[in-house]
Amino acid sequence: MLVVTKFGGSSLSCATQFEKVKNIVTSDPKRKIVVVSALGKRQSSDTKITDLLFILHAHLKYSVPYEDIWQMLYDRFVGVEKELGIDYDITKDLDALKEELNKNISQDYLVSRGEYLTAKLMSKYLGYTFVDAKDLLIYNYDGVLDDAQTEKNVKLAFSKYGTIVVPGFYGSYPNGSVKLLSRGGSDVTGSILAKCLNVSLYENWTDVSGILAADPRIIKNPKSIKEITYAELRELSYMGFSVLHEETVFPVQQLNIPINLKNTNDPQNPGTIIRNVCTDNENIVTGIAGRKDFISFNISKDHMSNEIGFMCKTLAIFEKYNVSIEHVPSGIDSFSVVVAQSSVEKCQYELVTELKTQLNCNVTVEKDIALVAVVGRNMAKRSGVCAKVFQTLGTEKINVKLLAQGPSELNIIIGVAGGDYDKTLSSLYESLIA
Ligand code: ASP
Repeated sequence: MLVVTKFGGSSLSCATQFEKVKNIVTSDPKRKIVVVSALGKRQSSDTKITDLLFILHAHLKYSVPYEDIWQMLYDRFVGVEKELGIDYDITKDLDALKEELNKNISQDYLVSRGEYLTAKLMSKYLGYTFVDAKDLLIYNYDGVLDDAQTEKNVKLAFSKYGTIVVPGFYGSYPNGSVKLLSRGGSDVTGSILAKCLNVSLYENWTDVSGILAADPRIIKNPKSIKEITYAELRELSYMGFSVLHEETVFPVQQLNIPINLKNTNDPQNPGTIIRNVCTDNENIVTGIAGRKDFISFNISKDHMSNEIGFMCKTLAIFEKYNVSIEHVPSGIDSFSVVVAQSSVEKCQYELVTELKTQLNCNVTVEKDIALVAVVGRNMAKRSGVCAKVFQTLGTEKINVKLLAQGPSELNIIIGVAGGDYDKTLSSLYESLIA
């Protein structure tokens, strides 16, 4: 039985955090594969190493003096090395990197050095072998992971060394140049390694004890979720939960490897388990999430219901303007197309004109719509959930502008005015979860 353990930047901000990581890793012999992000913030005023590296790159690119930024980076790494008292002279690697700094240095390469150096520190500290992610995760030139080659590399490295530390957040192209993943991508690295080695568990350690059932900026002390399915997490992430990188679930989901989100600062807390099938059927609603700033194009035309292909033609116009469609609630001779406001910022007027002229229909536009998703695997085939939602919103005098429920009955999406957003979230949380 093997476990991949991934630690985020806040679990790696200073020597004290490194010590906590070591205690966690060594307390379970199954934790043989460790993935790290770059050193994170020690306090809120700090700048993350990754952010410093992005800033450094911009300075180099525009030939702006960068010594101060370099010094901050240097001091952070050397500081941790000294505090840990390990047998690794990080100044050599830093000096070599300094030599490489120039106007044309690749951003992907430079930024990846945050994870690279952090992994080197961690490997020395744990006594595990450092394995460079660029020799493991191989991406085709179109940015798609070469699954077969990656799996081969990972299996080989693991069988050779037995206990490894791998920097997250990057891999390489076939020519060896570094390919950076999108922000938060170390979560994905961990997931890919978990899949390649078909481990029994993927642990993702951060500074929170699992996933909260609602946004703590709006709901005071929301409950944390003990168990959640991959599908529920996908719905909640899409609607605003920022727990894991959204690509994280895909590799492990294929093999049904559970993800356990845990808190490095409170390792005894069980955190949240994410898996295909959950056994805990206690809660009907798992979580409530939401996003603001949607816009609705309300389209109507007499006898629309008899006009075959009308909706198809409408959606094709949205496609032409490269606008991603969120929801299409419909009536008999009318329907609405709900999209993110930001996606039509530059094309709203042309889009409306084209809809009117091409389709000979009426179009009105309603801005400032918020969408709230009530998500729960246990809602399916159960009566009364919608009734409770409407009763709550009715009591609060919140007007429902649109409503959608997917065929899986995993979520109920409610559209309300932006100004009602906080009240909608808090009243639904109180009646459905608290
Ligand atoms: N260090 C990178 C970031 O800040 C990647 C990661 O932490 O996963 O986005």
